[in-house]
Amino acid sequence: MKNKVVLYFSAAQSEQPIIYRLVKNYDLVVNILKADINPQKQGYLVVEMEGEKDKYQEGISFLKGLGVIVESLSETVVWQEDVCIQCGACASFCPTEALEINRETMEISFNNSKCVVCGMCLDCCPTRAITLHFDIRGLV
Ligand code: SF4
Ligand code: SF4
Repeated sequence: MKNKVVLYFSAAQSEQPIIYRLVKNYDLVVNILKADINPQKQGYLVVEMEGEKDKYQEGISFLKGLGVIVESLSETVVWQEDVCIQCGACASFCPTEALEINRETMEISFNNSKCVVCGMCLDCCPTRAITLHFDIRGLV
């Protein structure tokens, strides 16, 4: 299984090789997406973790056993209409037609319910009108 989670650390926990142990002891692939640790060494990591379901759950239990707070994340694509210059580039990348050109008006629209968060559109937008947002869903 594969999931994105936020790990909140205390100063003492941040001293430990937690990521190394997730990889070595639980065979998880851990991809750090974002890190924010303050000078007091408290902070959080946003990570994508992938592995066998049992190992994944054991890895989560290991984190909780250390006192790390674990919250699950979901991703949402946000289209800012007021930033969009209607160039149409994104529509040619979108596999689900969530971003679509109206052929009559040549205007772009975004249908969030069709978006599968594949990320194909994110880098093609010249004005950064399309962004990826992380929503915390609660404790794992
Ligand atoms: S993330 Fe993928 S599915 Fe969603 S709007 Fe962008 S290209 Fe389309
Ligand atoms: S690539 Fe960006 S600016 Fe161009 S149509 Fe899509 S959202 Fe608008």
